Amino acid sequence: MRKKIVAGNWKMNLNLQEGVALATELNAALTADKPNCDVVICTPFIHLASVANVLDANLIGLGAENCADKVSGAYTGEVSAAMVKSTGAQYVILGHSERRAYYGETAEILKEKVNLALANGLKVIFCIGEVLEEREAEKQNEVVKAQLEGSLFDLTAEQFSNIILAYEPVWAIGTGKTATAEQAEEMHAFIRSTIADKFGAEAAENVSILYGGSCKPSNAKEIFAKPNVDGGLIGGAALKCADFKGIIDAWKA
Ligand code: PEP
Repeated sequence: MRKKIVAGNWKMNLNLQEGVALATELNAALTADKPNCDVVICTPFIHLASVANVLDANLIGLGAENCADKVSGAYTGEVSAAMVKSTGAQYVILGHSERRAYYGETAEILKEKVNLALANGLKVIFCIGEVLEEREAEKQNEVVKAQLEGSLFDLTAEQFSNIILAYEPVWAIGTGKTATAEQAEEMHAFIRSTIADKFGAEAAENVSILYGGSCKPSNAKEIFAKPNVDGGLIGGAALKCADFKGIIDAWKA
């Protein structure tokens, strides 16, 4: 049975003290009212070690938002997968559309990052999704397939079992414009069939595919109710404990 997951992506928000306070608040809220799904928060690098200290690791997973495409050495300002792992984090987001668009992360670079993250024992939340022009030209399936092929299709099925996919239509990220539950389901089903063709039926059945893009407490339940949607990757709404918990609670009856 594949996992139901709600993951938060804090992006470049909250200073260290604010981040620790939010993590502490969330940990208390989920201790008092246990979630029905796996919960992960992905934070800026500098928050990781401090946030790890305040989280109950059995209740909330911790991840980074990126890692380097190199092992170690003279790469000023970079943070390696091994460093991320050493903070206590278990996850890393890779391929977020903001990294692809603003930092020039190509399929090849992402392939290196994925390999290093997996080699260091991190689970990868790998983001894919089309921009508005591609959706308007009805090219979303080919775009998403090429993103999967370009960075993940050299993995073994064993390596692939540590990948979580996040379908994030770029036109829905931070815009308040959510994909309809039907649009999400249609794409998630396509992604799962693409994974089945490459890695087999079992891998496709087991991979969690999260939806991301302006997900809120008010729309999470309808989106998560779709058979191929296994949870969400949450940006803006992950920055307030009540909103994030509202989305986590969408998994409750
Ligand atoms: C994201 O950036 O991963 C995201 C889903 O952002 P938001 O929820 O703010 O649209």
